[in-house]
Amino acid sequence: MSRYLIIGGGVAGTRAAQTIRANVPAAEIIMVSREDHPFYRRPQLGEYAAGRLAEAALMARNPSFWEEKRIDLRLNTEVVAVEPSASMVRMLDGSTLEYDHLIVATGREPNCEGVDGSDLPGVISFQTLQEAAQLRVLQGGDGRVVVYGDSLPALQMVQAAATSGLDITYLVAGERILPGVLDEDASQILDGRLHAAGVKVVKGADVRSIEKKAGRAAAVKLSSGQVYPADLVGACAAYRPVTAALPVAEGGLRVAEDLSTPWPHVWVAGDVVGDEPPFNWLRAWRQGESVGLAACGAQDSVRSGRSSVHVLNCQLMGLSVVAIGQTVVPYRSGPSEVRTEVIGEFYKKLVFAPDDRLIGAILVGNVAEAGELEEAVGIGSSRSDLDPALMKQLFEPTYRPRFIGVQCPVCRHEIQLEPDAQVGDRVTCPICGVDFELVEDAQGFGVQMVE
Ligand SMILES: Cc1cc2nc3c(=O)[nH]c(=O)nc-3n(C[C@H](O)[C@H](O)[C@H](O)COP(=O)(O)OP(=O)(O)OC[C@H]3O[C@@H](n4cnc5c(N)ncnc54)[C@H](O)[C@@H]3O)c2cc1C
Repeated sequence: MSRYLIIGGGVAGTRAAQTIRANVPAAEIIMVSREDHPFYRRPQLGEYAAGRLAEAALMARNPSFWEEKRIDLRLNTEVVAVEPSASMVRMLDGSTLEYDHLIVATGREPNCEGVDGSDLPGVISFQTLQEAAQLRVLQGGDGRVVVYGDSLPALQMVQAAATSGLDITYLVAGERILPGVLDEDASQILDGRLHAAGVKVVKGADVRSIEKKAGRAAAVKLSSGQVYPADLVGACAAYRPVTAALPVAEGGLRVAEDLSTPWPHVWVAGDVVGDEPPFNWLRAWRQGESVGLAACGAQDSVRSGRSSVHVLNCQLMGLSVVAIGQTVVPYRSGPSEVRTEVIGEFYKKLVFAPDDRLIGAILVGNVAEAGELEEAVGIGSSRSDLDPALMKQLFEPTYRPRFIGVQCPVCRHEIQLEPDAQVGDRVTCPICGVDFELVEDAQGFGVQMVE
């Protein structure tokens, strides 16, 4: 009986385990995770921290799942060394485990180099449930929260602090929010939402250090000398793949198109693959499935797990935002843009290469066409190949969409609804299995989680 060892109990690791079980009923599957919670939905940490979701509602699987699927889940277990030559991993407690097939799905972690004090108590990167709980306990009090970083976790933490009524300051390094992904118009819409929620946004902030008092973080200091007092600091600026346990040479982890590595029977999946944001739940899910199939020897059915198209697909301050491929076009750089006016919080833009290929898109407010556009960017469709009905729907805010659907609030998968769908209906995402309820929305249907 082959032993499949999976390091990391997040979405990529769990999907891999499920895929292996479905294909190899007799396999021995062991999953180790250094966290103390089983698989939960990271994109909902903000809602948990704001007190809108209970801890149990974050859990992505029933407690009986692991036993039913015969997955030996070992929590609070950290792998410190992978030794491919011996097909073995070594744990923090000194114990070892041998494997026949190894899947590394260790995600990413904060990279706080250059900021003194980032390891102090009271500094979090908003990556884990345990960290989100530190924000949750401040709810309803008069705590001061300071967050820095151009990342999804940063914005989720800012939103959670604002909706919890806390004093929240968001330090942004450049002149706009998420400058690598959002253009000026999209960023300004988001800025408006932050302002309305009472967030103090400080632009051009160069964070130098985190100051301490009584052994914990007490303030964030900028290189300008400006100091922002804080009871909790969100250090959410830079992240790196978690590869410390792997025998990676200089130049980083080498991953092939099919997510295999230089070592036999070792695959990687999820956020640990590559170090370029944006990181993406659905991509991790798909890669987990791909490596699960590959590890089972079902090579023919393995899709290329890596997509060259970067997609940011999220809710920012309650606003649906999708950014696909190249979205920011430097002045006179070659690509051209086709865009709508900004109408309230509705804004859409397509980016074309000089040879007329679609290379990027931004959708704000109504993101119904995200799936079709991602596919078009992925296959390099040219302007004339784009479906005229899609173009009409994209650029006419009042046009009734052909697509009657909603986005899953967790994995952002677009779910096509039945024609007779009604407010109050309960829907289950076919991808991540989360349940939610249809509510009324300016664009048709919105969604609300059910516990
Ligand atoms: C606050 C927040 C909001 C987000 N919002 C969105 C969103 O709206 N849309 C979207 O698409 N994506 C979003 N993301 C990103 C998404 O959650 C990630 O892309 C996804 O979780 C990656 O899954 P993964 O399985 O690769 O890694 P992870 O979910 O990070 O899981 C990796 C696991 O491996 C464990 N591990 C690491 N090293 C070891 C080791 N040595 N030994 C044992 N265990 C180890 C870690 O502790 C962790 O449990 C968000 C992320 C955060 C944090």
